[in-house]
Amino acid sequence: MGSNITDTALGVTVLGSGSKGNAVVVRKGNDGILIDAGFSLKELRRRMKLADVPEQCIRAILITHEHDDHIKGLRVCAEHFNVPVYTTRKCADILRHRDSRLGQMTLFSPGDMFPLCNFTLCPFPISHDANDPVGFVVYSGNAKVGIATDFGYVSQVVEYQLQGCSTLVVESNHDLNMLAASSRPWSLKQRIMSRYGHLCNKDTGELLERIIRPNTQHVILAHLSEECNSRQLAWQCACQCLEHIDRKDIDLQIADQNQPLATVWTE
Ligand SMILES: [Zn+2]
Ligand SMILES: [Zn+2]
Repeated sequence: MGSNITDTALGVTVLGSGSKGNAVVVRKGNDGILIDAGFSLKELRRRMKLADVPEQCIRAILITHEHDDHIKGLRVCAEHFNVPVYTTRKCADILRHRDSRLGQMTLFSPGDMFPLCNFTLCPFPISHDANDPVGFVVYSGNAKVGIATDFGYVSQVVEYQLQGCSTLVVESNHDLNMLAASSRPWSLKQRIMSRYGHLCNKDTGELLERIIRPNTQHVILAHLSEECNSRQLAWQCACQCLEHIDRKDIDLQIADQNQPLATVWTE
């Protein structure tokens, strides 16, 4: 009998993504980390069950930034799984201010790598209207996973960190025309389009063209705006970019707000 793929491969499960909640599990063997807890515990457990992610694998919760769609279920989830919470000092201060019952948090600095279970984590700074927001790169063996949502523009750091990931979870937030035509107030449109807002489909596509390498196998578009984007537009834009670089072989998926995606595995 061969060894089970889940013992040697790095799995990424997007439990949900969008302005109403975000959560991703990265796991290998019996160890998993939850990145963001933007759903209630009940909803998170429902999605983990649907996606076949065993609850007992969760060893830590890592938080990208303090916006509600990333931390909604944080304290209750941390208590239920009985695991430490990792975040930046600034974010931790705000989380504690909002909920004094949050237990001890483990702090990291954007740009500083640290080991955690089977993984090496690299949080990197992103540009967003939050306190010390980060994206994450997760290394394990030869596999590299990049997770970056909620950033208004592609800095050199972002581009550098996300190069050559085997699996990429990247924001493709809005279509510029749909945003412009939407009923949103001008100030909000400005905020979304700013360097501290969210990435549009076109910028995501251009980023993909620059960071995809021969080892890249899965690309998951995340944090789509329900009002200012469509799955079709995001898909077409990314597809065209994959075509440009002759990588139509890549497994392209779109994360859903309401249900989990199946786990993708790379070794
Ligand atoms: Zn968000
Ligand atoms: Zn945000």
